[in-house]
Amino acid sequence: MKKLRLIMGDQLNENHSWFLNNNNEILYCMFEMKQEMDYTTHHTQKIIGFLKAMREFSNSLETKGHNIVYFKINDEKNTQSLSGNLNFLLKKYAIECFEYQEPDEYRLCYQLKEFCASLNITSNVADTEHFYTKKNELSEFFDGKKQFLMERFYRNMRKKHGVLMVGNQPEGGIWNYDKTNRKKWNNSPSIPKYLSFTNNVEEIIKDIESAKINKIGRFKGTNFDYPVNRNQALKQLEFFNKFLLTYFGDYQDASHTNEVYLFHSRLSFAMNIKLLSPKEVVDQVLEHYRSNEDSIDISQVEGFIRQILGWREYMRGMYWAHMPKYAKKNTLNNSNPIPPFFWDGKTKMNCLNNAINNSLDNAYAHHIQRLMVTGNYLLLTQTNPDEVDHWYLGVYIDAVEWVQLPNTRGMSQYADGGMIATKPYVSSGSYINKMSNYCKSCHYNVKSKIDQDSCPFNSLYWNFLDDKKDILKTNQRMRMMYSVLDKIDKDTLVKMKLKADDIIKNPNKY
Ligand code: FAD
Ligand code: SF4
Repeated sequence: MKKLRLIMGDQLNENHSWFLNNNNEILYCMFEMKQEMDYTTHHTQKIIGFLKAMREFSNSLETKGHNIVYFKINDEKNTQSLSGNLNFLLKKYAIECFEYQEPDEYRLCYQLKEFCASLNITSNVADTEHFYTKKNELSEFFDGKKQFLMERFYRNMRKKHGVLMVGNQPEGGIWNYDKTNRKKWNNSPSIPKYLSFTNNVEEIIKDIESAKINKIGRFKGTNFDYPVNRNQALKQLEFFNKFLLTYFGDYQDASHTNEVYLFHSRLSFAMNIKLLSPKEVVDQVLEHYRSNEDSIDISQVEGFIRQILGWREYMRGMYWAHMPKYAKKNTLNNSNPIPPFFWDGKTKMNCLNNAINNSLDNAYAHHIQRLMVTGNYLLLTQTNPDEVDHWYLGVYIDAVEWVQLPNTRGMSQYADGGMIATKPYVSSGSYINKMSNYCKSCHYNVKSKIDQDSCPFNSLYWNFLDDKKDILKTNQRMRMMYSVLDKIDKDTLVKMKLKADDIIKNPNKY
């Protein structure tokens, strides 16, 4: 064997040009390592999902006749570190050239660059052949601009890739149907039971236990239901097209106690480990739409495509344009600890109880639960963004830093001072009440601000605006909120601030 090629756990792209031909001089390697399990505390289902998908991928390469060496977490030879394992194989097989696919994460990118610099053999880096955009495409697109507006980037992506375009104009006459994507779901239209794959993961659970990996979250039984190979991922996409796309846009911002997934696709894990490429997801959604234009409205399709062609590529571009400084940003100087109930879901606030327990049970919460329930609460309680990142990076099955960090620190926590979101995503209880049924069965009264049983979001909201006045008041998009704040009488504001202080200092009471 002359060449060693590394495949990371989120690089499971069977269609990569590396695998077009078999070559007996190439050895592929994959490692389950503590290095990757310890850099944050991951959800059990996230660890299970990655290991299961990696093992499936390795088996599939082997079946296709490629040479592969795979280290399981408890293998004796496993040094548990990337450099250690690579050095072991380079020596053992007297390798003459080392190659890897460009990692999506800054930490690994840096580690591999340093590793290659230490070698006295040739090394090469290949593209992952996954994203629409090149790593620096977004920074080049916005070169010299002060604001990196997602909408501008998205429109350019639509034009460049000819997606939902008629000539140079958006199909249907409108670029963005966001305003129509805001219906409240109330048990209708009906939602089919989500597609569940019964992947047996008994062996992996035992391996993780004996390796004594620190973890969070819950997992019952031995059947894992997210897609873990390309076939399953394609089925998941087909299921989405057939049963969920029709209403995706309408109920994109809704939440409900009876439905964990609503009309969301659950495709993020499969896409983030590269079982599916964003282009094939978009192409298949478009193909399904073209054959069903009489029953699917363009607003549903645009709403979905915007998330992938727009937001997903934009977040990746922002990550690479601003790392490593981005990971330290804290414009609002927030420093409070994360409330302990984020780790066990024990709170009387019904919205948070639902969103956190969904996260702990399923390693999943849909976008609005992440943004307008948990994210909103953490921002209103002025939580340290490092602690916020730590929670989001660990708890979700789809959490890899290049997409988690800009979503959490940027979009949700405004720690970047408005590089991603033009204003902080904060709301009082009334927004949550408008978009969900949470408040109906909550211990707290969403209409009240200062009573004993008043909704904590209400006092926290006005307290936040008041506390952050110096930084936020000049923001044009915050003008209306600040003019309302100015009209609140002093006595009420003081009472709300005292209440907010109690909520922040004594989270377990709530
Ligand atoms: P759907 O609602 O069906 O959307 C379809 C696809 O669009 C998703 O699978 C995803 O690939 C893409 N998408 C949608 N919104 C975004 C977005 N804002 N950024 C990037 N891609 C998007 N997404 C992750 O993949 N990993 C994360 O770690 C992550 N952390 C988040 C943290 C916070 C605080 C917030 C507010 C959002 C986060 N998101 C993250 C974005 C989004 O919430 C998830 O992609 C989505 O909930 C995944 O579920 P789904 O596949 O059912 O998505
Ligand atoms: Fe959440 Fe407040 Fe509504 Fe309760 S009343 S569910 S705490 S928004």
